[in-house]
Amino acid sequence: MDQDTIAAISTPIGEGAIAIVRLSGEEAIKIANELFKGQDLREVKSHTIHYGKIVDPSTKEQVEEVMVSVMRAPKTFTTEDVVEINCHGGLASVNRLLELALLQGARLAEPGEFTKRAFLNGRIDLSQAEAVMDLIRAKTDKAMNVALKQLDGKLSQLVGSLRQQLIETVAHVEVNIDYPEYDDVEEMSNHMLIERTDAVYEEVEKLLKMAKQGKILREGLATAIIGRPNVGKSSLLNAFVQETKAIVTDIPGTTRDVIEEYVNIRGVPLRLVDTAGIRETEDIVERIGVERSRKALKEADLILFVLNYGEALSEEDKKLFEAVEGLECIVIINKTDLKQNLNIDEVKKYAGDKKIISTSLIKDKGMNELEEAIADTFFAGELDAGDLSYVSNVRHIQLLKQTLQALEDAKEAMEANMPIDLVQIDVTRAWELLGEIVGDTVQDSLIDQLFSQFCLGK
Ligand code: GDP
Ligand code: ZN
Repeated sequence: MDQDTIAAISTPIGEGAIAIVRLSGEEAIKIANELFKGQDLREVKSHTIHYGKIVDPSTKEQVEEVMVSVMRAPKTFTTEDVVEINCHGGLASVNRLLELALLQGARLAEPGEFTKRAFLNGRIDLSQAEAVMDLIRAKTDKAMNVALKQLDGKLSQLVGSLRQQLIETVAHVEVNIDYPEYDDVEEMSNHMLIERTDAVYEEVEKLLKMAKQGKILREGLATAIIGRPNVGKSSLLNAFVQETKAIVTDIPGTTRDVIEEYVNIRGVPLRLVDTAGIRETEDIVERIGVERSRKALKEADLILFVLNYGEALSEEDKKLFEAVEGLECIVIINKTDLKQNLNIDEVKKYAGDKKIISTSLIKDKGMNELEEAIADTFFAGELDAGDLSYVSNVRHIQLLKQTLQALEDAKEAMEANMPIDLVQIDVTRAWELLGEIVGDTVQDSLIDQLFSQFCLGK
């Protein structure tokens, strides 16, 4: 493939005080030098930054004051010569700069082309490239950390070692096919094959579990607010979004909000969902019964169950407790400004090990504690921030699921004492699927499609 010199604005358009025009390719330094008044960039050391001015070569007019970084191949992001021109001007001047670079012979980069080059030149693997994309899009700090970890190549390492185990298994199988009667060759018994496949299976399962958390970070914790009419569900929703999109009324059951909100609670993105009508749901148990509402509620990652401090625990409340049993749920006792009619000991008995938080939404009390509880729930125990997913990408999750299926097929074939070469087909497929995660066995079209999702200039 031809490696012409590409250029693009690599900072978000219209944002930030500093804008960067990035060039990559053989001519990058030469092109920048033709626009630059200051030191001769062709002479400077690699990985140095230089102050100077950008001058339009055709009019000799000074365009911008800039800082220019010069990074020579191969120790650069793309492994090619890279120049970054930092200017503090607005959109117009950065556009002008880009235009001048193009006039000097650079080509406008396609979206994601810098990262694509890094991948094609072997600088990063596909999962790392995708991490760059996630970084660009990271909605919250925590999602950003996950993306950073992936960028470190953690996922690649894990996947690499799993592939190694599979390829060894395949090799053993191969030996058995080729030399079935050869005694010296270590005979891989069915039992051993199953054991090895199982080991990989478990690891892939673990990755998938982590992936679920990664997905939550990226897409938000699906959150349902439930409780009897008038306990303050809409008020809670409003407190979260801090703008009055949801309608709060005095008449029980008259809330008619149809929005889906996305709020950021201490780095945990909450998506207030309306899966099967479970957000802000008061009569779910009445309507569809405990068992079915349980099923619907299971679709939520987190349930916020609101009670009224001013009223005794009702039958409905008890049914709701039944429906949320064993699910991730925080109990909120709202309206603590009212005269107490709720028996807290009774609530504690029903709540079991669920967290209980008291609020008075009308008096703006308790939101801090609630937010803390949400953040804690998400990052405590099993949901450990330290181990948070290296896998946070839909494509990866898909591939991991397919890998599990292939391994399952292999196991079934072994257990049914199928011919060993049939088993081998499944194991090889699992190996290939894992390879697709790191880009070893992907087709070009997939690569193109992936990189076209990048922002321009990355
Ligand atoms: P929902 O039916 O569960 O969605 O309840 P709403 O959020 O619509 O609230 C019902 C009524 O309770 C409204 O008049 C709210 O202003 C009121 N309310 C909400 N939170 C509190 C609170 O902490 N204390 C008191 N006294 N009233 C509240
Ligand atoms: Zn409501």
